[in-house]
Amino acid sequence: MKEQIYTIPVNDAFSIDCECPLCELERKLENDSISFMLSPALMEEQNRISTNKNGFCRRHFSMLYNKRENVLGVALIIETHMQHQMAEFEKIAAKNKGGLERDLKMGSMKNLAGRVSGSSTPGTKFIDSAIEFHRSLAGRCDVCSRIERIMDRYADVILWMYFRDADFRAKVMNGKGFCLPHYKLLLESAKKYLSPVQRASFVMEMNETMASNLARILDEIQWFAQKFDYRNKDASWKNSKDAVPRAIEKFVSYNDLK
Ligand SMILES: [Zn+2]
Ligand SMILES: [Zn+2]
Repeated sequence: MKEQIYTIPVNDAFSIDCECPLCELERKLENDSISFMLSPALMEEQNRISTNKNGFCRRHFSMLYNKRENVLGVALIIETHMQHQMAEFEKIAAKNKGGLERDLKMGSMKNLAGRVSGSSTPGTKFIDSAIEFHRSLAGRCDVCSRIERIMDRYADVILWMYFRDADFRAKVMNGKGFCLPHYKLLLESAKKYLSPVQRASFVMEMNETMASNLARILDEIQWFAQKFDYRNKDASWKNSKDAVPRAIEKFVSYNDLK
Protein backbone atom coordinates (compact mmCIF):
# COMPACT_ATOMS: atom_id res chain seq x y z
CA MET A 1 0.00 0.00 0.00
CA LYS A 2 1.35 3.37 -0.96
CA GLU A 3 1.91 5.68 1.98
CA GLN A 4 -1.33 7.00 3.47
CA ILE A 5 0.18 10.46 3.74
CA TYR A 6 -0.32 10.60 -0.03
CA THR A 7 -3.45 8.48 -0.62
CA ILE A 8 -5.65 10.37 1.87
CA PRO A 9 -5.06 13.85 0.37
CA VAL A 10 -5.41 12.39 -3.15
CA ASN A 11 -8.80 10.89 -2.28
CA ASP A 12 -9.88 14.14 -0.65
CA ALA A 13 -8.87 16.21 -3.69
CA PHE A 14 -10.67 13.90 -6.11
CA SER A 15 -13.85 14.23 -4.04
CA ILE A 16 -14.00 17.99 -4.67
CA ASP A 17 -16.07 19.25 -7.61
CA CYS A 18 -13.39 21.29 -9.38
CA GLU A 19 -11.61 21.82 -12.70
CA CYS A 20 -8.44 20.06 -11.53
CA PRO A 21 -7.92 17.94 -8.38
CA LEU A 22 -4.15 18.37 -8.72
CA CYS A 23 -4.65 22.12 -8.43
CA GLU A 24 -6.44 21.46 -5.12
CA LEU A 25 -3.53 19.28 -3.98
CA GLU A 26 -0.91 21.78 -5.06
CA ARG A 27 -2.66 24.80 -3.58
CA LYS A 28 -2.74 23.08 -0.19
CA LEU A 29 0.82 21.81 -0.58
CA GLU A 30 2.02 25.32 -1.45
CA ASN A 31 0.41 26.75 1.70
CA ASP A 32 1.85 23.94 3.83
CA SER A 33 5.27 24.52 2.26
CA ILE A 34 5.19 28.20 3.16
CA SER A 35 4.29 27.29 6.77
CA PHE A 36 7.06 24.67 6.76
CA MET A 37 9.59 27.33 5.72
CA LEU A 38 8.45 29.46 8.64
CA SER A 39 8.59 26.62 11.17
CA PRO A 40 10.80 26.84 14.29
CA ALA A 41 13.35 24.46 12.71
CA LEU A 42 14.30 27.17 10.22
CA MET A 43 15.21 29.43 13.14
CA GLU A 44 18.32 27.29 13.59
CA GLU A 45 21.02 28.53 11.24
CA GLN A 46 22.29 25.02 10.40
CA ASN A 47 18.83 24.21 8.97
CA ARG A 48 19.03 27.07 6.51
CA ILE A 49 21.84 25.65 4.33
CA SER A 50 19.41 25.07 1.48
CA THR A 51 17.54 28.38 1.74
CA ASN A 52 20.89 30.19 1.95
CA LYS A 53 21.91 28.68 -1.37
CA ASN A 54 18.57 28.77 -3.21
CA GLY A 55 16.33 31.42 -1.69
CA PHE A 56 12.86 31.78 -3.21
CA CYS A 57 11.14 32.91 -6.39
CA ARG A 58 9.11 36.13 -6.53
CA ARG A 59 5.79 34.37 -5.80
CA HIS A 60 7.10 32.50 -2.77
CA PHE A 61 9.06 35.37 -1.26
CA SER A 62 5.78 37.34 -1.45
CA MET A 63 3.81 34.51 0.16
CA LEU A 64 6.38 34.11 2.95
CA TYR A 65 6.17 37.79 3.77
CA ASN A 66 2.43 38.30 3.23
CA LYS A 67 1.56 35.42 5.53
CA ARG A 68 2.77 37.59 8.45
CA GLU A 69 3.07 34.37 10.42
CA ASN A 70 6.70 34.67 11.43
CA VAL A 71 8.23 37.95 10.22
CA LEU A 72 11.31 37.38 12.41
CA GLY A 73 11.79 34.01 10.66
CA VAL A 74 11.60 35.67 7.24
CA ALA A 75 14.16 38.25 8.36
CA LEU A 76 16.56 35.53 9.60
CA ILE A 77 16.15 33.52 6.39
CA ILE A 78 16.88 36.64 4.34
CA GLU A 79 19.84 37.61 6.53
CA THR A 80 21.83 34.42 6.02
CA HIS A 81 20.64 34.00 2.39
CA MET A 82 21.95 37.48 1.62
CA GLN A 83 25.26 36.86 3.38
CA HIS A 84 25.69 33.64 1.40
CA GLN A 85 24.89 35.30 -1.95
CA MET A 86 27.15 38.30 -1.23
CA ALA A 87 30.03 35.94 -0.50
CA GLU A 88 29.35 33.96 -3.71
CA PHE A 89 29.20 37.12 -5.79
CA GLU A 90 32.38 38.38 -4.16
CA LYS A 91 34.17 35.20 -5.30
CA ILE A 92 33.05 35.76 -8.92
CA ALA A 93 34.03 39.41 -8.78
CA ALA A 94 37.48 38.65 -7.33
CA LYS A 95 38.09 35.96 -9.97
CA ASN A 96 37.25 38.17 -12.94
CA LYS A 97 38.29 41.59 -11.70
CA GLY A 98 41.47 41.53 -13.85
CA GLY A 99 39.41 41.54 -17.07
CA LEU A 100 37.58 44.71 -16.11
CA GLU A 101 40.85 46.41 -15.19
CA ARG A 102 42.37 45.37 -18.54
CA ASP A 103 39.34 46.81 -20.38
CA LEU A 104 39.75 50.09 -18.53
CA LYS A 105 43.42 50.33 -19.53
CA MET A 106 42.76 49.19 -23.13
CA GLY A 107 39.83 51.60 -23.43
CA SER A 108 41.87 54.64 -22.45
CA MET A 109 44.67 53.60 -24.84
CA LYS A 110 42.19 53.12 -27.71
CA ASN A 111 40.43 56.38 -26.91
CA LEU A 112 43.77 58.13 -27.11
CA ALA A 113 44.28 56.52 -30.51
CA GLY A 114 40.74 57.54 -31.55
CA ARG A 115 39.41 53.98 -31.97
CA VAL A 116 36.10 52.49 -30.77
CA SER A 117 36.29 49.39 -28.53
CA GLY A 118 34.86 46.02 -29.60
CA SER A 119 31.99 44.16 -27.92
CA SER A 120 33.90 41.09 -26.69
CA THR A 121 36.70 42.05 -24.32
CA PRO A 122 38.36 40.58 -21.20
CA GLY A 123 35.75 42.42 -19.13
CA THR A 124 32.95 40.54 -20.91
CA LYS A 125 33.96 37.48 -18.91
CA PHE A 126 33.08 39.26 -15.69
CA ILE A 127 29.72 40.35 -17.08
CA ASP A 128 28.94 36.86 -18.42
CA SER A 129 29.78 35.27 -15.04
CA ALA A 130 27.66 37.85 -13.22
CA ILE A 131 24.72 37.26 -15.60
CA GLU A 132 25.06 33.49 -15.08
CA PHE A 133 25.14 34.00 -11.30
CA HIS A 134 21.91 36.02 -11.40
CA ARG A 135 20.22 33.66 -13.87
CA SER A 136 21.04 30.64 -11.77
CA LEU A 137 19.84 32.29 -8.55
CA ALA A 138 16.59 33.44 -10.20
CA GLY A 139 15.91 29.85 -11.32
CA ARG A 140 16.09 28.38 -7.81
CA CYS A 141 13.41 28.35 -5.09
CA ASP A 142 13.18 26.01 -2.11
CA VAL A 143 9.36 26.15 -2.07
CA CYS A 144 9.09 25.44 -5.83
CA SER A 145 11.47 22.48 -5.57
CA ARG A 146 9.63 21.07 -2.52
CA ILE A 147 6.32 21.36 -4.39
CA GLU A 148 7.80 19.73 -7.48
CA ARG A 149 9.19 16.83 -5.43
CA ILE A 150 5.92 16.15 -3.57
CA MET A 151 3.68 16.66 -6.64
CA ASP A 152 5.74 13.96 -8.33
CA ARG A 153 4.89 11.64 -5.41
CA TYR A 154 1.20 12.56 -5.71
CA ALA A 155 1.21 11.87 -9.45
CA ASP A 156 2.82 8.47 -8.83
CA VAL A 157 0.14 7.66 -6.21
CA ILE A 158 -2.69 8.82 -8.52
CA LEU A 159 -1.50 6.46 -11.26
CA TRP A 160 -1.04 3.65 -8.75
CA MET A 161 -4.60 4.12 -7.43
CA TYR A 162 -5.98 4.43 -10.96
CA PHE A 163 -5.01 0.84 -11.75
CA ARG A 164 -5.85 -0.65 -8.36
CA ASP A 165 -9.11 1.00 -7.36
CA ALA A 166 -12.00 0.74 -9.86
CA ASP A 167 -14.07 3.41 -8.06
CA PHE A 168 -11.17 5.83 -8.14
CA ARG A 169 -10.58 5.13 -11.83
CA ALA A 170 -14.26 5.78 -12.63
CA LYS A 171 -14.13 9.00 -10.62
CA VAL A 172 -11.09 10.20 -12.61
CA MET A 173 -12.57 9.19 -15.96
CA ASN A 174 -15.91 10.84 -15.24
CA GLY A 175 -14.40 13.90 -13.58
CA LYS A 176 -13.72 17.32 -15.07
CA GLY A 177 -10.19 16.43 -16.18
CA PHE A 178 -7.14 18.47 -15.23
CA CYS A 179 -5.55 21.79 -15.99
CA LEU A 180 -3.03 21.56 -18.81
CA PRO A 181 0.13 21.92 -16.63
CA HIS A 182 -1.08 19.10 -14.35
CA TYR A 183 -2.14 16.95 -17.28
CA LYS A 184 1.43 17.37 -18.54
CA LEU A 185 2.70 16.25 -15.10
CA LEU A 186 0.49 13.13 -15.28
CA LEU A 187 1.75 12.33 -18.78
CA GLU A 188 5.36 12.69 -17.61
CA SER A 189 4.58 10.42 -14.65
CA ALA A 190 2.83 7.90 -16.93
CA LYS A 191 6.09 7.67 -18.88
CA LYS A 192 8.08 7.18 -15.67
CA TYR A 193 5.84 4.91 -13.60
CA LEU A 194 3.52 2.89 -15.86
CA SER A 195 4.05 -0.18 -18.00
CA PRO A 196 3.47 0.32 -21.77
CA VAL A 197 0.01 -1.30 -21.58
CA GLN A 198 -1.10 0.74 -18.56
CA ARG A 199 0.36 3.87 -20.11
CA ALA A 200 -1.59 3.36 -23.33
CA SER A 201 -4.91 2.79 -21.59
CA PHE A 202 -4.39 5.70 -19.19
CA VAL A 203 -3.50 8.11 -22.00
CA MET A 204 -6.40 6.97 -24.22
CA GLU A 205 -8.93 7.31 -21.41
CA MET A 206 -7.56 10.64 -20.21
CA ASN A 207 -7.42 12.11 -23.71
CA GLU A 208 -11.14 11.45 -23.94
CA THR A 209 -11.83 12.98 -20.51
CA MET A 210 -9.68 16.00 -21.35
CA ALA A 211 -11.27 16.53 -24.78
CA SER A 212 -14.86 16.36 -23.48
CA ASN A 213 -14.08 18.72 -20.59
CA LEU A 214 -12.29 21.25 -22.76
CA ALA A 215 -15.33 21.16 -25.09
CA ARG A 216 -17.57 21.71 -22.04
CA ILE A 217 -15.60 24.73 -20.86
CA LEU A 218 -15.47 26.15 -24.39
CA ASP A 219 -19.28 25.93 -24.48
CA GLU A 220 -19.45 27.74 -21.16
CA ILE A 221 -17.12 30.50 -22.38
CA GLN A 222 -19.15 30.87 -25.58
CA TRP A 223 -22.37 31.18 -23.59
CA PHE A 224 -20.65 33.68 -21.26
CA ALA A 225 -19.81 35.83 -24.32
CA GLN A 226 -23.30 35.42 -25.80
CA LYS A 227 -24.84 36.66 -22.56
CA PHE A 228 -23.49 40.12 -23.48
CA ASP A 229 -25.89 40.15 -26.44
CA TYR A 230 -28.95 42.16 -25.30
CA ARG A 231 -31.21 39.43 -26.69
CA ASN A 232 -29.84 37.04 -24.04
CA LYS A 233 -30.08 39.57 -21.23
CA ASP A 234 -32.79 37.66 -19.38
CA ALA A 235 -31.57 34.16 -20.22
CA SER A 236 -30.00 32.00 -17.53
CA TRP A 237 -26.21 32.11 -17.05
CA LYS A 238 -26.32 28.30 -16.88
CA ASN A 239 -22.86 27.27 -15.63
CA SER A 240 -21.10 30.20 -17.31
CA LYS A 241 -20.98 32.86 -14.63
CA ASP A 242 -17.47 31.91 -13.46
CA ALA A 243 -16.39 30.31 -16.75
CA VAL A 244 -13.58 32.83 -17.35
CA PRO A 245 -11.52 32.10 -14.20
CA ARG A 246 -12.18 28.36 -14.59
CA ALA A 247 -11.02 28.46 -18.22
CA ILE A 248 -7.89 30.38 -17.19
CA GLU A 249 -7.21 27.75 -14.52
CA LYS A 250 -7.52 25.07 -17.22
CA PHE A 251 -4.68 26.78 -19.11
CA VAL A 252 -2.30 27.89 -16.38
CA SER A 253 -3.27 25.98 -13.22
CA TYR A 254 -4.70 27.49 -10.05
CA ASN A 255 -4.18 31.19 -9.54
CA ASP A 256 -5.24 34.14 -7.44
CA LEU A 257 -8.11 35.33 -9.64
CA LYS A 258 -10.96 36.65 -7.53
ZN1 LIG B 1 -4.20 21.73 -12.07
ZN1 LIG C 1 8.95 29.36 -5.83
